[in-house]
Amino acid sequence: MITGATCYWDSSVTMTVCWGGRFPTGYGVATTFGHTTVVAWGADPDVAINPSDLWGDNYGVRMEHEANHASQWDVLGTAEFAALYGLAAWGDSARTAPGRSQGCTNVFEWSAGLAAGGYQC
Ligand SMILES: [Zn+2]
Repeated sequence: MITGATCYWDSSVTMTVCWGGRFPTGYGVATTFGHTTVVAWGADPDVAINPSDLWGDNYGVRMEHEANHASQWDVLGTAEFAALYGLAAWGDSARTAPGRSQGCTNVFEWSAGLAAGGYQC
């Protein structure tokens, strides 16, 4: 799933952070699988973005948001989290008006912290 990525362990949030690989991503710029957060490439898929460069001073708060997703994953388990997150994302995209930020009505993003996750709602 993750090929050619660079990863490190962030003990402050007990998460592995990866970037620079070719991997599927959600509609955010980062996707968390269990306790691993994968940061998407930028507009140019050949340009990898280091998460601390991508988020700058917001790195800590953003990783707390991703760690909240890891807790959701832990509580629900992989299959349930994936199914329910997918359903929540589907409902969110159906509710979101064109031109508006996706994710604002996704209960998983809401409960992980919309502002911390970089959502402009
Ligand atoms: Zn999120």
